[in-house]
Amino acid sequence: MKFSGKVAVITGAARGIGRACAERLLADGARIVIADINAERLATTVAEIGNPDNVFSYVCDVSKKSDVDDLIAAAVKKFGSVDIMVNNAGIAMIQDFLDITEQDYDKVLGINLKGPFFGVQAAARQMIAQGHGGVIVNMSSINSGLANPKVATYAISKGGLNQVTSTAAVAFAPYNIRVVGVGPGTIMTEMVDGSFIDSEETRRQILSRTPIGRCGKASEVASVVSFLASDDASYMTGETIYPDGGRRILNYTVPVED
Ligand code: NAP
Repeated sequence: MKFSGKVAVITGAARGIGRACAERLLADGARIVIADINAERLATTVAEIGNPDNVFSYVCDVSKKSDVDDLIAAAVKKFGSVDIMVNNAGIAMIQDFLDITEQDYDKVLGINLKGPFFGVQAAARQMIAQGHGGVIVNMSSINSGLANPKVATYAISKGGLNQVTSTAAVAFAPYNIRVVGVGPGTIMTEMVDGSFIDSEETRRQILSRTPIGRCGKASEVASVVSFLASDDASYMTGETIYPDGGRRILNYTVPVED
């Protein structure tokens, strides 16, 4: 199995894309540390996907640097190393540009940008100390490069995150640490259902800009994370790639089937 002997840490892993990444990396042979702010949901997820020999959970708010540092320390204490770090936790607030308060701005940027920044830093420090490299994957979004003012703080955070990926990739290349990003299109998770897709009209709008003609599944993001974290992607660093059903490159709309 391709990740046998490796330890992977995944944030925001109690549900959605993070959980799918955890399940995929586990199936690929890694021992995993899953972190989330939601302790109750995290406990349920652990019980459903693994056992104490291969899954360890840690309650953590990624917007707090001390929590992220403690997460890496706890992973090392439990399984001895950190070889793969997936900075996945993120939130979105849908609101008009002029309604965004300082508190809203700090909340979204704190979780989506500051969190992964210090996640990269803590994981890279540990990987450098271990001396045999590693892979860090940051969960971006197609919104990193699209201008949707209804999710301005989200878009700004993900645009910044792509630069965390690029700058960290250059900083840590000498240590054989690759830093890569994944920027999904619309993936059917609880984050999207009822927020990004709050009506039949928005669903049709999204699909009219999705050549593949459907929303994605969390497992279709997890498989890209698995590829990037593996030696099959050994010459890739600094890039963000987009499992988005062709949405980002589309310059017109397509007919939507019912
Ligand atoms: P999700 O279903 O809402 O899952 C995110 C998980 O992260 C939840 O369990 C959430 O807990 C947790 N979380 C929230 N704040 C946290 C914090 N401060 N520290 C630790 N954990 C925290 O979201 P998702 O759709 O799987 O999205 C996961 C990532 O993919 C995000 O970075 C998102 O921006 C990105 N993404 C998603 C899509 C999509 O279409 N779904 C598209 C592009 C990018 P609570 O529920 O208790 O807040």
